[in-house]
Amino acid sequence: MPELPEVETVRRTLVPHLVGRRIRTVSVPHAHVLGGASPRAFASALRGRRIGGLSRRGKYLVLDLEADGGGEPTHLVVHLRMTGRLAFVPAGAPFTPDPRHTHAWMGLSGGGRLTFHDVRKFGRLGWVGHADLAGALPSGRDPVLEGVDGPVLLRLLGTRRAPLKSLLLRQDLLCGLGNIYANEALHRAGLHPLCAGAGLDQAAADGLAAAIGGVLAEALAFQGTTLWDYRTGDGERGGFGRFLRVYGRAGLPCRACGTPVEALRVAGRTSAFCPRCQPAAAGRRRPPVAVDAG
Ligand SMILES: [Zn+2]
Repeated sequence: MPELPEVETVRRTLVPHLVGRRIRTVSVPHAHVLGGASPRAFASALRGRRIGGLSRRGKYLVLDLEADGGGEPTHLVVHLRMTGRLAFVPAGAPFTPDPRHTHAWMGLSGGGRLTFHDVRKFGRLGWVGHADLAGALPSGRDPVLEGVDGPVLLRLLGTRRAPLKSLLLRQDLLCGLGNIYANEALHRAGLHPLCAGAGLDQAAADGLAAAIGGVLAEALAFQGTTLWDYRTGDGERGGFGRFLRVYGRAGLPCRACGTPVEALRVAGRTSAFCPRCQPAAAGRRRPPVAVDAG
């Protein structure tokens, strides 16, 4: 949390505020957010540069920072992790940094600020040169940028004995899924979280690929899921939470069939699943019917 739909929503909501602006000032009162880099070096790398664009890979946001006179851009790489929030504060709006949780902010040309707020303090800001950008980002396939289909999933997951739930969280295989959307995709595909990657056949892989693409697209349309801290770049809450079918619903009825949702631990994370829609034994797969919001 935040996962691909939330980070992509932050990107989309920040683009109109940031692209074309120049970074005038850089303040980093809490240096831990730089992961060991010096605030002075960070500030001098960013100051004066123009924000040429924002991109995303997996759960990482990237601001392209152009220098005057051309040359290769530098990149500000942002990982929100658990509770990080990157937001635009318009010129003239009140800005009172939270002394404990506002870890950095940048003053922009034309007024306004880009602020980074993080209660749990796991989020990170870093800058890299253009040649080092790819190495700073996850290597897995991004299901929105590059798409995902059954043959791709079979190639990525189909020879692995680990549970699907663990494999879907590995950012070197597919990047951008976290616990919410991995649970939701497995439910939509009718696959038990402990089903092995190698247990996928072509039909199950096709179904899982469609489930991943479908849940991400729907979550994006509602600007992601706000459980607690996540906000868009404009400070709004995401609206997809009410459509979640199993995540966070252990003990509550499955939205497809009414059976109580169960939970188990897989690789240290809670996996919520419906024992009827997602039976453990292969060959009894029965994809849940589509449901409307409850
Ligand atoms: Zn069910």
